[in-house]
Parts: sequence; C-alpha cells; structure tokens
Amino acid sequence: MKINGSCHCGNIRYQADGEFGDLLSCNCSICSKRGSLLWFIPRSNLSVSTPDKPLSTYTFNSHKIKHHFCPVCGCAPFGEGEDGKGNSMAAINARCVDNVDLSQFKINHFDGKSL
Ligand SMILES: [Zn+2]
Repeated sequence: MKINGSCHCGNIRYQADGEFGDLLSCNCSICSKRGSLLWFIPRSNLSVSTPDKPLSTYTFNSHKIKHHFCPVCGCAPFGEGEDGKGNSMAAINARCVDNVDLSQFKINHFDGKSL
C-alpha cells in the first residue's frame, strides 16, 4: 500500500510503503507541542520525492531522533531514528498524509513523557 504525503506548502513530498494504521499519539515534549500522530515504518520503506528541497532538522535530548520539518511552512511530515533493535525507522506524521480520514483509525497512546 503506497501512501503519499507532504508538508503544507508541498516543498517536502514523500511516498511511504506499508499497511497504514496503528497510529501513535505520544505525550513526549515535542509530540504534544506539535500535535503529531505517528505511523512507524522501516526507513527503507520511505522515499522522499523532493530530495533537492531543503529539509530542516531538529534534535534534542539524546539527539538520536531527527525531527524533520519544512523550513517554508513549518509542517513536520516525518522523522527518522532507530528502534530498540537498531533498525532505521521513519516516523511518518499521519496528519501530513494525503487523502486519509484519520477518524477511521484507532489511536494508541504512548507514554513517551516517562521515558
Ligand atoms: Zn512546506
């Protein structure tokens, strides 16, 4: 299942491959301020279709997760990091995915604040 997404201005576009669903609402400091809803896939399943466009990156705390955002419109379409086993993962912000009704999906709550 191919999923297309972008930031608000379209500067950053991507295609993600996987079974869309299993959305995660995390209460950590950045997810709560951004209001992201995350969908995790292997990094190799994410293809950025605008590699020539600037993508700003924010890191904090242990600086292990790259929180990308568009320098033009400020939307944060995805992030990159590793799972507990060292696999490269992409955290897709489901709110930047095109043409999906997010109300149809179950949202799991994750206590990232306590990590
Ligand atoms: Zn943008």
